[in-house]
Amino acid sequence: MSFCLVGCRYSGRGCFTKLKANTSDPEPFIYMAKPMIAGNWKSYVTSTKEAKKLFKDIEKGLPRQLKADVVLFPPSLLLHPLARNYSGKRISFGAQDIFFESGAHTGETPALLAKDVGARYALIGHAEKRAQGETDETVAKKVGAALDAKLTPVVAFGESSRDKNGEYLEDLARSILESLALVDVLSLKKVILAYEPVWAIGAPLPPTGRTIRHTMIFIRKTLAQKFKREDALKVRILYGGAVNEESALEIIQNGETGGFLLGRASIHADSFTSIVSQWATK
Ligand code: PEP
Repeated sequence: MSFCLVGCRYSGRGCFTKLKANTSDPEPFIYMAKPMIAGNWKSYVTSTKEAKKLFKDIEKGLPRQLKADVVLFPPSLLLHPLARNYSGKRISFGAQDIFFESGAHTGETPALLAKDVGARYALIGHAEKRAQGETDETVAKKVGAALDAKLTPVVAFGESSRDKNGEYLEDLARSILESLALVDVLSLKKVILAYEPVWAIGAPLPPTGRTIRHTMIFIRKTLAQKFKREDALKVRILYGGAVNEESALEIIQNGETGGFLLGRASIHADSFTSIVSQWATK
């Protein structure tokens, strides 16, 4: 993957922003990485037949000139039936969750097994897992296990709500740094982040691109506390929460994200592929 830092105004394609303190309209840079458009099917899909049809429709609907990394996160039981029948390269698969060790852990999916049945990515720390009690410490162990298993971790985090004094930012920063506790400067480039404000997940509308952009800047500043600034600038950070075909373009243009993690929009082939096309063919 190559990166290019060039000053630009909001090109809407892979832009990110110089880390300046106390600025509401910071100067952006071009970030020449491919976007990643990921679909989290959650537990919406309930049969192999349904999953295969959705997968086939998505595959068919993708733009011919695909300039994005497209990743689907089906329920773990569907990874094998989908991945074993797919020899193409345009779509990759990920596990919706993994566990950090094998052994006596009923119901869990060890990272190595997810890898063995066809996953290349592992979604870790999704808000719905955190709502069931998953802590940043557990997220950190799972990130470490994913890296050991040669899975690319997609580490999700986001504030539950916002207060007008911005105090939520402190918790957000702590959550990011604790979730990445076992990530060093060498493994940082193998990690993808997904900023998903809990209040936007499942909501009718996402925040504006401008709101997302400001949080993206904050996230990069937080990363720069632990890693070098250049490394912090290179991390791919997705946005997730209520993105659909109507709202996608404004976020693509103004959000300075490295792609999307889509929930509901990923279980409708037309919506998903439309969002991929809006971004990837620009
Ligand atoms: C999610 O849960 O990760 C998500 C982005 O959901 P939705 O797009 O449905 O808001």
